[in-house]
Amino acid sequence: MTAGRGRPVIFDDAAQAEFLRLVASGIRIGDSADKLGISRRTPTQLAARNPGFAQRLAAAKAAGRDNRIPHGTAGGYNNHGCRGPRCTAAATAARAKHRHDTAQHDGPDRTAQVHPLPIAQPTTASRKFAVLADVG
Ligand SMILES: [Zn+2]
Repeated sequence: MTAGRGRPVIFDDAAQAEFLRLVASGIRIGDSADKLGISRRTPTQLAARNPGFAQRLAAAKAAGRDNRIPHGTAGGYNNHGCRGPRCTAAATAARAKHRHDTAQHDGPDRTAQVHPLPIAQPTTASRKFAVLADVG
């Protein structure tokens, strides 16, 4: 291997700890590897032959997923399935706002004008009575 070229292959304890810290903070595995300047395959390869690291990686990934959830938003509840109190409250508020907003569209339009229908009316009273006379 030529010195100074390519990515360092060293993934020692300190680098592993930093990698797991990044993953647990919510940064995806590939991006965490990029930040450390290691190959994206290195952590996966280590996990394949080191059950202890695999276990710590799985825990870090679970924590990372949780940290990616935008807690306190309706999206946390609707898109990420979080049922925590902050996400539940935000989703409840969002549904109430949606109902309020759509109710205004669904209700009767009280600003509408009444347009007269173009129906021809009898012009004189005598003609009105003539019609009634025909009926008997
Ligand atoms: Zn939440």
